[in-house]
Amino acid sequence: MAAGEKEKRSVQRKRKPKILAVINDSCTGCSGAPICITECPVENCMYEVENPDAPIFNRVYVDALLCIGCKKCITKGPMDTLLEGCPWDAIDMIPLEDFEEENGTLAY
Ligand code: SF4
Ligand code: SF4
Repeated sequence: MAAGEKEKRSVQRKRKPKILAVINDSCTGCSGAPICITECPVENCMYEVENPDAPIFNRVYVDALLCIGCKKCITKGPMDTLLEGCPWDAIDMIPLEDFEEENGTLAY
């Protein structure tokens, strides 16, 4: 494991989360270095996909089935000075029931 890289959990959680992270249109892909993926504690939960609106940059997608709703991807440091999560407010935390109403029931 590279220095500074956090150990990630690979097991699926047993309980449904109350909220899920959903990436909105503000995602820039952080120019190829997505800080959110670094912060997410769950293996393969967040990953880069092609951005059809800006093909030279990817954007990030969240696997709703793996997201545990921990909010680490949107966490900011003390006084909002140290950014730890998304610096572009590109991640919305959505209630699971709203997500499932729009996208169908998740197969936990
Ligand atoms: S809420 Fe937690 S588990 Fe979900 S995408 Fe963000 S960091 Fe990963
Ligand atoms: S930190 Fe925000 S802008 Fe950067 S890749 Fe993740 S969601 Fe997109």
